[in-house]
Parts: sequence; C-alpha cells; structure tokens
Amino acid sequence: MEKTDIQSWLEDQNLSLLENILSLEEVFWSNPKLEKFQNGIEKSLLSEEDVAGAEERLKRFAPYIAKAFPETSVSKGIIESPLLKIPTMKEKLELDYGGPIVGELLLKCDSHLPISGSIKARGGIYEILKHAEELALENQLLSIHDDYSILASEKFHTFFSHYSIAVGSTGNLGLSIGIISAKLGFKVTVHMSADAKQWKKDLLRSKNVHVIEYDADYSKAVEEGRIQAEADPRCYFVDDENSRDLFLGYAVAASRLKRQLVELAITVDENHPLFVYLPCGVGGGPGGVAFGLKLMFQDHVHCFFAEPTHSPCMLLGLMTGLHEQISVQDLGIDNVTDADGLAVGRPSGFVGRTVEPFLSGNYTVSDDCLYKLLKDLVDTEDIYLEPSALAGMIGPVKLSKEGSDYLQKYDLVNKTGNGTHIVWATGGGMVPKAMMNQYYQKGIVNSW
Ligand SMILES: *Cc1c(COP(=O)(O)O)cnc(C)c1O
Repeated sequence: MEKTDIQSWLEDQNLSLLENILSLEEVFWSNPKLEKFQNGIEKSLLSEEDVAGAEERLKRFAPYIAKAFPETSVSKGIIESPLLKIPTMKEKLELDYGGPIVGELLLKCDSHLPISGSIKARGGIYEILKHAEELALENQLLSIHDDYSILASEKFHTFFSHYSIAVGSTGNLGLSIGIISAKLGFKVTVHMSADAKQWKKDLLRSKNVHVIEYDADYSKAVEEGRIQAEADPRCYFVDDENSRDLFLGYAVAASRLKRQLVELAITVDENHPLFVYLPCGVGGGPGGVAFGLKLMFQDHVHCFFAEPTHSPCMLLGLMTGLHEQISVQDLGIDNVTDADGLAVGRPSGFVGRTVEPFLSGNYTVSDDCLYKLLKDLVDTEDIYLEPSALAGMIGPVKLSKEGSDYLQKYDLVNKTGNGTHIVWATGGGMVPKAMMNQYYQKGIVNSW
C-alpha cells in the first residue's frame, strides 16, 4: 500500500491501541462497525441459501466419505466434532486470571475432526468435493441423485487422475486438501511456507502428495502456488485468500452446532447470549464459522477472533478498513509465531469485508500464553490441542476484563450469567506424540 495511506490513517487513530499492537502487547478491540444482523445481511454477498447449498452438497457426499474414510462411518460420513463442557479448565482460568467466568464454558473440538484433525477438514474438504462433483457432472459420470459412494471406485480415481489441485498453506490446509485430493485420485501439490512443520510435510509425502517448500511466509507460498497453477488449465487452485467455497464449507458448522446445543439443553436467545472465540489466520475458517453462526443466532451470538501478538493481520485489516491492503510487516511486525495456522501477515480482504458488519471484536494473545493454556487444558481436561488452537481459550477472560464497554453497549452485563462461551479448538488431533510433549514442556516453562 501507499505509505501515505498508512500515515493518514495513523493520524486519526486511537494511538494507544496501535502502540500496544506495535509493541506486541496483548490487546482487545471491539468492532465499531458491528451492525444489527438484519442490516448487515442485506448488504452481504453471501446468503443463507449459499450455506444451505453447501450443507446439501456435504450430505450428497456423505456415503462417499463414509466409504473412503471408515473412521467416519459412525457419523455416516458427516465430518463433525464434539462440543464438550470443560468445567475444570474453567476453574483453572478463574483461579489464574483472578475472576469468575460468568456463564457456561464449552470447547468445540475441531481439533478432533476426522480425516485431518483441524478446522480445515471443514472448508478444505468441502472445496475439493465441490470441484470433484463439478468435474464428474460436466463429464456425465455422475448425477446428483446417485449414491456418491461410487466416487470411491477405480473408474473415478482414474478420471480424477487427469486433473490436478494446488494450494498454498502453513500446514493444516495443505493436510486437508492433500489428503482428500489424493484419496479421490487427483494429482496434488501443496506449497508450504517456511514455518510448516516437518511432520506435516512427511505425512503428505507418504500419501503421494507433491510438497514444495519455500523459505518464506504463507503469503509467498500462496502466491507461488497461484502462479504455478495458472500455467496449467487442468489444475485447480484452492485460493485460501479469496475462496467462497472454503468459507461456505466452514459456515456449515453452525447448523450442526445448533443441534449440539439443543442436545445439551443450552438455549441461545435474547436473554441467553452466546459468545464464540475463534483463532484467526487468513480469516476463512473463523470468518465462515462466524458467518454461519450469525445466520443461525443473529444478534444473540457474539463472535470474537483471536490472533497471535506477532500476526495480528485481521485486526489491522479491520481496524484500518484497509483489509488486504495492509500487512503486519507494513508496520514492522515480524509475523513470527509458533501458532502455525495463524502465522499470516496479510488478511483475506474477501473475509474481512464479509464479516465486518458481523464481528464483535478481535484480540491478540502471546505465544507464551498459548503454551501455558495448552498445558492447563491437558492437566485439567486431558485434551491435547496444538498451540494455535488455544488462542480462543483466553477469550472469556479477555471479554470479562477488557470488554465491559462492549457488554454495556449491547446490554449484556446482566445476561452473561445465563450465557454460554464456546472456545473453538481449531487443531491438534494429528500432532505426533513427541511433538505434543515438546509443546507441553514449553507450557511448564510458561506456567505460574
Ligand atoms: C487454519 C487454522 C486456523 C485459522 O483459519 P484461517 O482460515 O487461516 O483463518 C486456526 N487454527 C488452526 C489450527 C488452523 O489450522
């Protein structure tokens, strides 16, 4: 972007918040552009029908998923994760941060989604299935009334092997796209940023996925992937920065969550607010989930994004209104964090603009805090997450300590006691044990 834009923006800003962001301190920001749901949705480029269409497509594919990934046969090929109460962790948070968390605390365990062990098993898999369906329909190999388990046959495998898929990733999107694409028969290339973990690359290579490594960050891996894919008309590029399909795949989480809340006898309405805390990288995962949740619960749900102090890209994009025109590096922030999925320097402009009227706010969290929370969750609930997935865990504490203006503005002060906090645990299910032990050890160093 033009330096003059940054400078003119700086001049009109709440400088103390910006100073704190620049000094890599943890911050809490509430979104002044949050609108009433009805006003926001009227301007939105995506609608309830789009999300319903994605849900229907995933139902069509369920017989295929159940056949190709037998671990999903119990859920009949629907890729979904548990929603758990975590009362012991709640006590631990209250003890350590010196104050009650008012309302119920739940963990949405996307870390334990089948197939790829992260939130990417929603959007990533959905986008590849949609592409596969389009190819098969165009070539008259499939009708939408067929039993899609036929897609697991040799005939389809051979058909898809004439096409290829490419994606740029810090790791987890690569895992999800790589695994599903290879299973269907596609040739697949994953362009990995420098921070991607070795075990993720090894795992993909063991599944015949072509992994190309870059000595640079996520944005570079995506850009290279895009350039290489453009040169090949049979190659489909999964564009994590701009993809509506990824976004819609994530958004389907909301209707499923609604059913899980009903099963737990949890009400969400005017007097029973729902607060959801979502770790954010480029934005598609948390943005899609938040969008779906707003469609489901409108003004009764309050969604907050969580980012590392070293990668507050969505926060910067939203607070400046510059979206993808600004990167953390523009402000001298290094984008170095152990929270792999969140090591993103430039946010998705598509996601930022789509969620701008719906998002309640955004906060940042240090890597040390992520490790501490990782250890605490193991000790209290025996649940293992990867560091990025803990970013949501501090949300209820931040809201109660720093969000009083927000709670007052939306008349929530006396309602939070009847409310529910959902921490979205976005990944960790596939992390090798030895690696997880290292994470836990780092949590010991950072505990008190
Ligand atoms: C990808 C990822 C996120 C964030 O999703 P974006 O779409 O990049 O914003 C959060 N947590 C984990 C573990 C991830 O892999």
